[in-house]
Amino acid sequence: MSTRPTPVVVLESFRGEYADRSAWAVVRVDGPGWIGTLPVHELELLCAGPDGVPLHGLPHRREGDHVEITLGPARVRGRVAEWRDLVERLLTTPRTTGELLESPSGRPWDGPVSDVRVADVRVAHEPARPETPAEVLAAAAGMDLDRFIELLGDVWRAVPGEGPLGTYLWGEPAQLAAEPVLDGLEIGTPRARWTTHLSHYEVLDRRLVTGDQTDEEVRDAVAPLLRRRRRGFRWCRYCGQMLAPDARFARDTCYGCATARLGVVY
Ligand SMILES: [Zn+2]
Repeated sequence: MSTRPTPVVVLESFRGEYADRSAWAVVRVDGPGWIGTLPVHELELLCAGPDGVPLHGLPHRREGDHVEITLGPARVRGRVAEWRDLVERLLTTPRTTGELLESPSGRPWDGPVSDVRVADVRVAHEPARPETPAEVLAAAAGMDLDRFIELLGDVWRAVPGEGPLGTYLWGEPAQLAAEPVLDGLEIGTPRARWTTHLSHYEVLDRRLVTGDQTDEEVRDAVAPLLRRRRRGFRWCRYCGQMLAPDARFARDTCYGCATARLGVVY
């Protein structure tokens, strides 16, 4: 995995001065530092399907349901539905062209290019909204929140993990793990890694979940993970707590009781 930090892409939208739907967004990519202009009305066209949209000279391609636009050092990728969502956000936070003195053309970029998910693109002047873990994961999967909650549950928590975009767990003891990736959401079985204390969680047996899948496909991906994980649960013989196989001292003893009852020191 690259150690280069992911570029932060910020779009600031300007409404066209004519009575059409033209709208422009000035693109700033921080970190490497790059500026350009994205015609929002053409982005809308690109989402609608036709090829040959000039897009102010920005390199782009559409493959099936995926659209990729290269904004200097950031290769922004996502599903059409996610790009449409971005267009909506840009059109609901417009400023006037009076404030846009020029629409800078994107300078050619020779440096390294990193992948950025369209869901991670920021929109300037957008009111900040706190996101729950379920909202973050639903956005990564490209599902609306209600559908995500019906299929994958509501109460998730962020934990230390290996996912560059975060690692999340569901259930106590943890029964499912999830990590946002560029193409959607990977779910799998959590495994706690211990040193002298809990260090982080790994995600095993990964499956990709996206909003394009049917409810049945998502359930078929999740069900065997839950079944196997739950089969491994036992109860502590001293305190009765339910224990996952990666979070117990012995088959029938939790770490706490191992210390209190058996004098085990970690
Ligand atoms: Zn116990």
